[in-house]
Amino acid sequence: MKAVVFDQYKSAPSLKEIDRPKPGPGEVLLKVAGAGACHSDVAVFRDFDAEFGPSQLKPSFVLGHENAGWVEELGAGVTGIDEGDAYLVYGPVGCGHCRACSRGQDTYCENAATMPYLAVGLGRDGGMAEYVSVPARNLVPLGDADPTVAAPLADAGLTPYHAIKKSLPVLAGGDTYALVIGLGGLGQVAVQILTALTGATVIAIDTREGAMERARANGAVTVAGGEAQAARIREATGGHGVDAVFDFVGIDPTIALAMSVVALRGRVTVVGIGNGTYAWNFYGVPYEVELTSTYWGTLEELHEVVDLYRAGKITPDVEIFSLDDALEAYRRLEAGELTGRAVVAPHGH
Ligand code: NAD
Ligand code: ZN
Repeated sequence: MKAVVFDQYKSAPSLKEIDRPKPGPGEVLLKVAGAGACHSDVAVFRDFDAEFGPSQLKPSFVLGHENAGWVEELGAGVTGIDEGDAYLVYGPVGCGHCRACSRGQDTYCENAATMPYLAVGLGRDGGMAEYVSVPARNLVPLGDADPTVAAPLADAGLTPYHAIKKSLPVLAGGDTYALVIGLGGLGQVAVQILTALTGATVIAIDTREGAMERARANGAVTVAGGEAQAARIREATGGHGVDAVFDFVGIDPTIALAMSVVALRGRVTVVGIGNGTYAWNFYGVPYEVELTSTYWGTLEELHEVVDLYRAGKITPDVEIFSLDDALEAYRRLEAGELTGRAVVAPHGH
């Protein structure tokens, strides 16, 4: 079968012919309906090497950690799953038996350091291929919902959902404001989730006007860039400041902007892996501001994300590519030329 393989540090992946995987014990082989291209993949093949980045992300493996598909074959011991049914894949794969994993929080696996991979598509073969084999416990049923459009929910949906849920306390109480920085695959879904879950005014910014236009269509207000951007954001909050900032870029200037507009007791969540730094100072920010990172989400939360999708409350904007065009999808992601999440549909859509 054809697959997009990360086969060398610091270089674009290759489209290769490889053997179709066989589902191991407890695994299910899926015929891939959709595999999203995430900007984290760009970090994997551009930034990381033997010294920098998680040691499990060494070449080679098939990319694609945002996957959905139809059941093709069951591995030994798997029951209760019907061939042809559509499932979304929870990507993180922990040891499966520590306290965190037993609660569906594989992202917090206590044995992560000794695991040979982090997730489906991150260290073990992912879904940018005709078929992918995944642990049966990682399947979230999609029912009659479109699995190709659903694929980005596995990361571009789940990651902002997890970050937003943890920030809900500061968005409660009325007259609250959220700011989304970076309106790509994750940021656009973040705007939809904030609108679905809170009454907060959602302010959204990006360096691309087209991305801001889509955020406005999803219910956000946007603010122009430039020198006075922080002042304009404050103005949009009536001088109150932003209660919850979500930074999907994570470089020095975006973290600095987030910290300059956050409200008293507000919360700044850095989602983007831009390796930015910030010099904290007691009087440099309002009292009791929290600055935190976030990592993906839990299996339980992915079920909730699927419910929001099936209820029509969130719908990822997607651009569909064939498997033959998958490398072009990554090129356009890196160049900032996409207008929606790039989803590779190896069997058409
Ligand atoms: P993307 O390329 O689809 O979107 C990034 C967006 O940010 C683009 O719209 C771009 O125009 C915008 N942008 C770039 N520089 C900007 C700036 N200075 N100010 C405002 N906007 C700017 O990327 P994505 O797939 O949505 O991923 C976003 C980030 O989240 C990446 O860094 C990715 O690695 C990271 N990520 C983190 C997690 C996690 O668990 N923490 C999970 C998935 C992705
Ligand atoms: Zn574990």
